[in-house]
Amino acid sequence: MINITFPDNSIKQFPKNITGLEVANLISSSLAKDALVAEINNQLKDLSLPIEFDCHLRILTHKDPECLEIIRHDAAHITAQAVKELFPHVQVTIGPAIENGFYYDFATEKPFTPEDLLQITAKMQDIINRDEKIIREVWNREQAIEFFKKIGEFYKAEIISEIPAKEDITLYRQGNFVDLCRGPHALSTGKVKYFKLMKIAGAYWRGDSNNPMLQRIYGTAWATREQLNNHLHMIEEAEKRDHRKLGKELGLFHFQEEAPGMVFWHDKGWSIYNTIEQYIRKKIRKAGYIEVRTPVVVDKSLWQQSGHWEKFREDMFALNLSEDKIFALKPMNCPCHVQIFKQGIKSYRDLPLRMSEFGLCHRNESSGALHGLMRVRALVQDDAHIFCTEEQINSETVNFCQLLTEIYRDFGFSEIKIKFSDRPKLRAGTDEIWDKAETSLKHAVEEAGYSYILSPGDGAFYGPKLEFCLKDSLGREWQCGTLQVDFVLPERLDANYIAANGEKKRPVMLHRAIIGSFERFIGILIEEYSGRFPIWLAPVQIAIATITSNLSNYALENNNFPKANREIKASQVRLVDENGAMLGILNIKDALERAERANLDLVEISPNAEPPVCKILDFGREIIHADIAMKLFERISLALEGIAKIDSAPKMEGKQIIMLVSSSL
Ligand SMILES: [Zn+2]
Ligand SMILES: [Zn+2]
Repeated sequence: MINITFPDNSIKQFPKNITGLEVANLISSSLAKDALVAEINNQLKDLSLPIEFDCHLRILTHKDPECLEIIRHDAAHITAQAVKELFPHVQVTIGPAIENGFYYDFATEKPFTPEDLLQITAKMQDIINRDEKIIREVWNREQAIEFFKKIGEFYKAEIISEIPAKEDITLYRQGNFVDLCRGPHALSTGKVKYFKLMKIAGAYWRGDSNNPMLQRIYGTAWATREQLNNHLHMIEEAEKRDHRKLGKELGLFHFQEEAPGMVFWHDKGWSIYNTIEQYIRKKIRKAGYIEVRTPVVVDKSLWQQSGHWEKFREDMFALNLSEDKIFALKPMNCPCHVQIFKQGIKSYRDLPLRMSEFGLCHRNESSGALHGLMRVRALVQDDAHIFCTEEQINSETVNFCQLLTEIYRDFGFSEIKIKFSDRPKLRAGTDEIWDKAETSLKHAVEEAGYSYILSPGDGAFYGPKLEFCLKDSLGREWQCGTLQVDFVLPERLDANYIAANGEKKRPVMLHRAIIGSFERFIGILIEEYSGRFPIWLAPVQIAIATITSNLSNYALENNNFPKANREIKASQVRLVDENGAMLGILNIKDALERAERANLDLVEISPNAEPPVCKILDFGREIIHADIAMKLFERISLALEGIAKIDSAPKMEGKQIIMLVSSSL
């Protein structure tokens, strides 16, 4: 007998070699019917596998998210079976489950066509309806190689010959189709219900361009119809909103081959960029940051000192200006900021020193990785480094989390996920320092009111880090913000400050960014808003040029014109003269006289003030401008009817009427 522990911690005895399916059947026949796979000691296994030892067992159904991988892997096998039934000469290679779906690579002379996909889909449905048993078999290596060679599957034979000798060769059989596979799989083909083949693409065998080109069929598969429909809808929406497509339509930017991965911003796109920059500058200035600017081209020696040359060399653009001089385009701003920190003597009173830069960085991403604004080679980060003491890590992190939340919220993102990455195996610094850094980061996040997901061992080699993901309206997650604690760079670049007791100490460096890169963030915004930006970001707002007028605001807000000269009934007024100088409180008679002397009018511009504010100006001219502004405003209101509602009273700013408008659709 063996002891099986269930998820509720109950333990029951069963005969040795009982299968997961048999256990499920003993629990209930409906569980057995819904069961897809067994989880034995945290590993997914076939339900048909005999259980030989005491273990923890979970029976998983389509309700368990872990099952998606099984369903997708099953779907990949069914795709291959369908292709073999339709096109017997095509060779199968590999077909894994991937995020949101699966693919299968085939070796075929004749590329698949969209019509082929329809035919393959119909055949897959047929195989699913046949509900064929999926049977696991353990084979002898030589026999397996022989078998696949005999049936003309040379890729499979090649894969088997490379499996380490001590590993079992397992094959999975369904109908006439046999595939080399580690498994696990569900019990029969009928368990796959909701799938769709998505597209065909070329892919080299083993991803190597020296190898033959294969045909890859991509598909998606889900546990419920609703999940499948949601996914297809999401893809459709994402395609409609693709920032590369919208960027072109809206005339925001373009790319061209002469500068791969680098953006040509057009005026409208640049207007969005500038609006964001100004907004962030305002926010961080308020939060106590200073702003700096450092060189883009920097001698190799600094990158050697900082360690980037060793760790990051592949991704850096290097310039050989002469034989003994190598420069590199900066991939990060950090070492340059340390240079500014090192100018002059810093004392503990200077800390925390929050140094920000809208820093232009270059990274030599592979051309295959480039993707519109989302992955570029030249990017501007909203970068900053906070030089602080160990004791300040906590409060700086709390403040940062709050600032980041405010900024994300202003851009319309309210759902934020935080990933906390702690010490990796290879790291600099003592365990004591890591303990301190990790604890203060964790406490700070909790203090800021956030929960986080732990990502063990994923920290940078110089310190733990937080990653901030925002969720867009399609449910996609984008990692934008980051905060990293660094004890190493100040050491390497010899930065120090004088502590309160007069000793020289190393500052801690917090690397942090909120939107990440402007390019990528604008890409995210374009897709989030489908190009219909909130009014404060929109490059073309509802704004109509007119002539600056002192009275237009008054007219627009009050919907009537101000009083002038003899109509003013107050006995005293606060007077502003024709040049804008405040003259203080005068009685009405003196004010009127003054206006007359200047051959101008006295006009009440703030009637509700106590006493009312009056200004000396040319009323005849102003009233015309106010009248024009009023009429324009009426026309705008009319044009917006049914589309948008006006949220704030219109205001004159420079030559524009500014008002907040929100969609009423
Ligand atoms: Zn497989
Ligand atoms: Zn940095």
